[in-house]
Amino acid sequence: MSHMPSSPSESRRDQDARRRGEFPPAPDPLSVPVFDSHTHLDLTIQQARLPGTGDGDPVAALLDAAAKSGIDRVVQVGVDVPTSAWGAALADRSEAVLAAVAIHPNEAPLLAALDESLREIEALAARPRVRGIGETGLDTFRTGEDGRAAQETSFRAHIAIAKRYGKALIIHDRDAHQDVLRVLDEEGAPDTVVMHCFSGDADFAAECVRRGFYLSFAGTVTFANAGNLRTAAEITPADQIMVETDAPYLTPVPHRGRPNASYLIPLTVRALATTRGADVDELCARISATGERVFGPWR
Ligand SMILES: [Zn+2]
Repeated sequence: MSHMPSSPSESRRDQDARRRGEFPPAPDPLSVPVFDSHTHLDLTIQQARLPGTGDGDPVAALLDAAAKSGIDRVVQVGVDVPTSAWGAALADRSEAVLAAVAIHPNEAPLLAALDESLREIEALAARPRVRGIGETGLDTFRTGEDGRAAQETSFRAHIAIAKRYGKALIIHDRDAHQDVLRVLDEEGAPDTVVMHCFSGDADFAAECVRRGFYLSFAGTVTFANAGNLRTAAEITPADQIMVETDAPYLTPVPHRGRPNASYLIPLTVRALATTRGADVDELCARISATGERVFGPWR
């Protein structure tokens, strides 16, 4: 997990690119395909476009670039009613895309009519290519004391929707590990729970693993200061591991600060394999199979 040494001129070029918000160059492609368990294509195209896209469809360009890197399937994740509806429609017309729908935990406290929004999420949840309810959960980092009650109410409602429709629950947990487990235990967790952008240590990973949850690791696992996270990734059984971008956020090393996209997954999955002392191809095959079990089939 070290930076490649770079000449002063290279680092200047890199800084310029960072300022312009350009996508990083593509890494070597994977030889065994894997999927991106959590991406926001809609937010990504607002931030940057792949070079050469011109007037073409920027989402199609991102999916093409992903496929060329060996990421042949993605889960498009909603954060409110419009982005959830957008993802559900995209999944209907793209065989590489399945959708997850939800009101984001930092969004829920801001809504004047949360009940009405939850009804719209529930209507989307019934659609066949919507396979996840998320991202939902708890975030005590961005939401203050006054928003906590609405956030938890929304989380509980999403748990109920996931159970009613038999879809995977995709959890956003920021500085709220024990409260997330408390609410899940109180409500009774759905059959399938994915901890998106897993951010706990080995002890919390063990608690999630024991409950049968899936742990999805993002680019954060490549960060120099993420030793705890790598220890968590080491102790997670291969059949409970997923990999994700959370694009356009959390770009893996060595491209932190630039926009993220699914075609950069090889950097994260290779770091995961190194951490686990695993073969990259074998890890990709396991993650792929897990994805088909949890969200699939895509095609
Ligand atoms: Zn996300």
